[in-house]
Amino acid sequence: VPRKIVVIGAHAAAVDAASAARKTDRTAEITLLTTEKYAGYSRCGIPFVIGRHIPKFTDLIVYPSSYYQMMKLDLRRETTATNIDTKAKTVETRDKTGKSETLSYDSLIIATGANSFIPPIKGKEKPGILTVRTIEDGEKINEAIEKGAKSAIVMGAGLIGLEVAIGLTERGLKTTVVEMLPQIMPVMLDADMAKGVQEMLESKGITILTGKGVEEFTGTDKVDGVVAAGQQIKADLCIAAFGVRSNTELAQKIGLTLGDTKAIKVSPKQETSIPGIYAIGDCAESTHMITQRPALPQLGTVAVKQGKVAGTNAAGGYAIFPGVLGSAVTKFFDMEIGVTGLNEFFAKRAGLDPIAATISGQTRAQYYPGAQPIKVKIVVEREMERVIGAQIIGGEEVTQRINAISLGIQKQVTVRELAKSDTCYAPPLCETWELMALAAEAAVIKLSR
Ligand SMILES: Cc1cc2nc3c(=O)[nH]c(=O)nc-3n(C[C@H](O)[C@H](O)[C@H](O)COP(=O)(O)OP(=O)(O)OC[C@H]3O[C@@H](n4cnc5c(N)ncnc54)[C@H](O)[C@@H]3O)c2cc1C
Repeated sequence: VPRKIVVIGAHAAAVDAASAARKTDRTAEITLLTTEKYAGYSRCGIPFVIGRHIPKFTDLIVYPSSYYQMMKLDLRRETTATNIDTKAKTVETRDKTGKSETLSYDSLIIATGANSFIPPIKGKEKPGILTVRTIEDGEKINEAIEKGAKSAIVMGAGLIGLEVAIGLTERGLKTTVVEMLPQIMPVMLDADMAKGVQEMLESKGITILTGKGVEEFTGTDKVDGVVAAGQQIKADLCIAAFGVRSNTELAQKIGLTLGDTKAIKVSPKQETSIPGIYAIGDCAESTHMITQRPALPQLGTVAVKQGKVAGTNAAGGYAIFPGVLGSAVTKFFDMEIGVTGLNEFFAKRAGLDPIAATISGQTRAQYYPGAQPIKVKIVVEREMERVIGAQIIGGEEVTQRINAISLGIQKQVTVRELAKSDTCYAPPLCETWELMALAAEAAVIKLSR
């Protein structure tokens, strides 16, 4: 009898899980369910369609229908998993016509992701507050721009809020970003690094108000602005980018244990508190590789890796997920921004004693045309002298530096080892002295003080 695997969700985590399950078990019957009209697309690309770097939202579909056919995956779009019976090992589904079905499973993978979150702010129920999670969300924003919207407020200066603010600015909208905390990108960057990014964004015409919490959504029939720290700001578009919350509705219904982060607690095999049921992606908790504490990075990179692990295990193979460092990268106009591990703020919050060093330089030999400025900050744990984090801002070559440092952190490299690392050089590509090594050297000097 073929093994039956049901995957709830059909996006980053789910499709990788189903693909890994297929590679592990050629005969398994694998079904994927999604409430959405489109499956297997990249949410990460939405801000870049808004900014017209990519022509249309459907270009974001990474896995076309032919992929599911080739992999013999039974994809059911616009179908909701309404209930799970863990004793009978069945999932109840309902499609858009209202038709119900009962699917039995041997292994179940929960990849229900996360939903955009709007805090309980006065006027929250007013129509017109836009979010940025699905293709439909992106299309709504695009339609509003095409109908003549001239101004926008983006609430939240995290990665998604700022990527969207840039997309809107590129489309000619006068854009204001409102952030409750005193700096932008508070989860990723330390205040000193965030300052440089904020100045660049302001130089491109984006108004950024930090330290200002949204207190009210204004408007009569529909939202026409916000009040933030007593100040009324009007705009044609009001976009909520406050963050996301794990979708654990079904998990809670069947009594799965949730972790400190309110996401589903899993083992390194991505297995939940009920054997045979796995959880992956934005709805599943991870362990931070440095602090060994629960973490919830809610990144596409983590989703696909956890998906591969759960899919392999659900199909009878063996794989484990090593944990997360929160490595992430983005591009704001021409500026690349990358982070990995802990920043100084979060290192201190985790009870560590960090020291940090920052070095500025160029991305190519000084005499080579097109060199861009780049700034590297390394965070080190004082006692063991281990590198525990990095933040890099620059014109080019940020991604692979972050990947290199991330691997170093994973391998518990010391700052002295990083300072002596065997790096490469050619004038069109970098300087003779690699900035990561120079930043590490500066940190070593600070350590010996
Ligand atoms: C604008 C934006 C930009 C981003 N940029 C980046 C980036 O640059 N880099 C990066 O690493 N990450 C980025 N992310 C994060 C990344 O997109 C998410 O981490 C990733 O989508 C998580 O994948 P997932 O499969 O866990 O969940 P989701 O993508 O949320 O998918 C979950 C799916 O489960 C389905 N579902 C839920 N409940 C049910 C049910 N009961 N029945 C059936 N189906 C159900 C829903 O239909 C939903 O589509 C970005 C996210 C956004 C929104």
